Amino acid sequence: MGADVTDRVVVITGGSRGIGRAAAIAAAARGFRVVVGYASNETAANEVVANIESKNGKAIAVKCDVGKEGDILGLFEAADKFGTLGALVNNAGIVGKSGVRVDEMSAARIQEMMAVNVTGSILCAREAVKRMSTKHGGKGGVIVNISSVAAKLGAPNTYVDYAASKGAIDSFTVGLGHEVAGEGIRVAGIRPGLIDTEIHAAGGEPDRAHRLAHMVPMKRVGQAEEIANVIVWLMSDEASYITSTTLDVSGGR
Ligand code: NAP
Repeated sequence: MGADVTDRVVVITGGSRGIGRAAAIAAAARGFRVVVGYASNETAANEVVANIESKNGKAIAVKCDVGKEGDILGLFEAADKFGTLGALVNNAGIVGKSGVRVDEMSAARIQEMMAVNVTGSILCAREAVKRMSTKHGGKGGVIVNISSVAAKLGAPNTYVDYAASKGAIDSFTVGLGHEVAGEGIRVAGIRPGLIDTEIHAAGGEPDRAHRLAHMVPMKRVGQAEEIANVIVWLMSDEASYITSTTLDVSGGR
């Protein structure tokens, strides 16, 4: 499959805001029918759908908290009704409150982090592989896992639990990629750096990306579209020999 192939479905978790929103709009522009997953912000998800439809693209919004297996099953059932799955973007992700050290972390915080960022991504990939793998009668496809440079930096004194969840995603990209490499599925990851989205406000530090921009070799934050461009490229045939690897998209950070 590739950028020239239209009418395949892409499921994007957390497609209502930030990087997922930009990826949804970019994928639709390349002919994908987009399933915009969202956790709770229905208004934002509907805005993405309207944006895509205003340019004659095809999209639907589906509520799916990736921390809940039942929601994930519902997301893929909705995708099945929308068309043939060709790609999954495991984008939904959360951070906990910034500045909490490991010796202060609650079990509930760590469990939620892993349930959403790790288990949710693996379960979504499971559903995608069941549909796309040639072993199961599928036509192949691409899975893009959104990691973070935090996986390499560890995020000490910020959110080590988040960094660890993204380290798990990097290992998952390697392992799953090998598992399905002979079944028409490529699996690739992206480690974004400091991207200008609302995730920093969710961690209690709305200004975090801009405050740390001076530490980026390129001396600026990244925009969601700069990650989305790489997502849709990885989903295209231009990236046909890429699997089991994760790319830093971080201005050199
Ligand atoms: P964001 O602006 O906070 O948007 C988060 C998106 O994920 C929203 O669409 C939200 O849905 C959805 N979401 C949140 N919790 C969810 C859940 N439990 N189940 C399903 N969806 C959920 O985040 P972002 O900055 O675009 O981040 C997207 C991905 O990039 C994440 O995996 C993040 O870790 C990664 N990343 C971001 C940065 C950065 O600097 N921004 C850097 C490195 C990696 P609602 O709209 O319904 O709330």
